[in-house]
Amino acid sequence: MTTKIRPYLFYDVALALCSRCLRKVEAKVVFQDGCVYMDKRCPEHGKERVLLADDIEYYKKCREVFLKPPEQPLHNQTPVRYGCPYDCGLCPDHEQHSCLALIEVTDQCNLRCPICYADSGPDRPGFRSLEQIEGMMDALVRSEGEPDVVQLSGGEPTIHPDFFAILDAARARPIKHLMVNTNGLRIAEDREFARRLGTYRQGFEIYLQFDSFKREALMELRGADLRRIRAKALEHLNEFDVSTTLVVTLKKGLNDDEVGEIVRFALEQPCVRGVTFQPVQAAGRLEAFDPATDRLTLTEVRRAIYEQSGVFRAEDVIPVPCHPDCLAMAYALKIGGQAIPLTGMIDPQVLIDGARNTIVFEQEPELRGKLFQAFSTNHSPESGAASLRELLCCLPSVQVPDSFGYANVFRILIVQFMDAYSMDVRSVKKSCIHIVHPDGRLIPFDTYNLFYREGREQAWEDARPADPWAGRKKVGLPILAAGAAQ
Ligand code: SF4
Ligand code: SF4
Ligand SMILES: [Zn+2]
Repeated sequence: MTTKIRPYLFYDVALALCSRCLRKVEAKVVFQDGCVYMDKRCPEHGKERVLLADDIEYYKKCREVFLKPPEQPLHNQTPVRYGCPYDCGLCPDHEQHSCLALIEVTDQCNLRCPICYADSGPDRPGFRSLEQIEGMMDALVRSEGEPDVVQLSGGEPTIHPDFFAILDAARARPIKHLMVNTNGLRIAEDREFARRLGTYRQGFEIYLQFDSFKREALMELRGADLRRIRAKALEHLNEFDVSTTLVVTLKKGLNDDEVGEIVRFALEQPCVRGVTFQPVQAAGRLEAFDPATDRLTLTEVRRAIYEQSGVFRAEDVIPVPCHPDCLAMAYALKIGGQAIPLTGMIDPQVLIDGARNTIVFEQEPELRGKLFQAFSTNHSPESGAASLRELLCCLPSVQVPDSFGYANVFRILIVQFMDAYSMDVRSVKKSCIHIVHPDGRLIPFDTYNLFYREGREQAWEDARPADPWAGRKKVGLPILAAGAAQ
């Protein structure tokens, strides 16, 4: 026996990407000093360590407890050919349908944010035509039947000259819930525009950029001091009672100390139904960026929510079973001017495992089913409230008020998209937030920005493995139908 011992616990192998050449490489998932790391090795670019989470128990829960049978789209748009993530999509190997689909209506924007993944700005060319946008909606409807949530995005969708015609086109299709992803400039500056948004009511929501109360943070993220704009936009949205979710882009050391303040502020806004937190990484622009230490992970944002908000507890913020590695959710009920988190409604004697002092509702089959249904990406405020009501009704000793509706529900969502550092083939197959490509493919948000955004596909052809089917043709082996090879 030797005395040589690794400094970590080895948990699993993973298929990852080299962040430099985007080739698929093998990796290990390891636990060390309370954190979860992915250790990769590229034949050309060497070793790389990436921080995945700073909470091992939570990470294991995502991998081992929050599992549900994958829900499939009606159709796939691409065959399995090169292997994941080079076949998007959705190819038959994908494990989750489009809970939420984004349709980008333009690359143009009235801001030029330094962190913009779409590289949008005032000088980007034109707008997608209404006809092309309708074609994208139809591609989604073919795949989903009745899409749960569609988010119009950009660029800045509200500056599209056919903006209201686009809303009406979405309304004319069997789309259950429509969101507009906006920086709020037009809503703030044009009261009449906000009034018209208010006429859309049911199944409609504004996804409003809202990152910080601090000037410096806004300057760094958005290149502009948007404090007055944000306040004015919210004033108009409250005036016309337009359902709104605040969307907060979080950067480590910049505004991650404002999480609690933003949650409390959001709870006071009558039109606001929730907050979405999206960590971004400084990679690319920061010279000395070290993915082993400088990443802001989902588990850190989760901790910020329960440490800073004064409303939510750790057990309120749980993995979303659609894509547990990348999404976490919490609910609070706004009743009588008070915000009560979900666990605050439940009699601790009933649901707490005394030994470990944790909520164990995921272990009761009926509760588990209802819980997984409520904690899903495909909800609107209305359907989220309905699912939550069902969940609460099957909890002993919870009195659900008769008037309980979506105005009483407040939802926190953490969305951590994968990048070239954190990409894990196992995980990306569960991605349920997809972008509709103008050619009708449905592509996970995470892989779209790395590989499939217009003009990008040519650039990475070298990273893609040779077409294995082409090889078979050459030596005359039988060609199996896509999907039959496993
Ligand atoms: S991410 Fe999904 S759609 Fe894309 S290649 Fe992998 S399995 Fe297919
Ligand atoms: S507002 Fe959004 S689309 Fe416009 S530049 Fe900023 S991040 Fe990009
Ligand atoms: Zn490499």
